[in-house]
Amino acid sequence: MTDEQVTVEKTATPAAAPQAKKGPRGQVTIFANWCKGCGICVAFCPTGVFALDDTDHPVVVHPEKCTACHWCDTHCPDFAIVVKKIAP
Ligand code: SF4
Ligand code: SF4
Repeated sequence: MTDEQVTVEKTATPAAAPQAKKGPRGQVTIFANWCKGCGICVAFCPTGVFALDDTDHPVVVHPEKCTACHWCDTHCPDFAIVVKKIAP
C-alpha cells in the first residue's frame, strides 16, 4: 500500500440506546396501624426500600429504589402495604 492508498475505515454510528428510566417506579405506602412488624417486607424487598425503625416496624428509607415489583404488597400478611405504580 502506498501513501496515497488510504483506507478509510467506516465505523457505524451506534444507534442511541434506550435510556433506563431513573427514579422510583412505585409509590409505597405503609399503613402502620395494620402492620404487626413481622419484617417480611424488610427482609425480602429486592432493592432495599425498607428498614426497621426502633420499634421493629418498617419504614420506607429508599423510596427512589422501588421498582413496583409488588413483592411486598402481595406478601404482607396484614395487607399493610400498598404499592402504586408510577406512570412512566
Ligand atoms: S410484611 Fe406487612 S405486617 Fe410485616 S412488617 Fe411488612 S408491612 Fe408490617
Ligand atoms: S414493590 Fe418491590 S421494590 Fe417496591 S418496596 Fe415493594 S418489594 Fe420493594
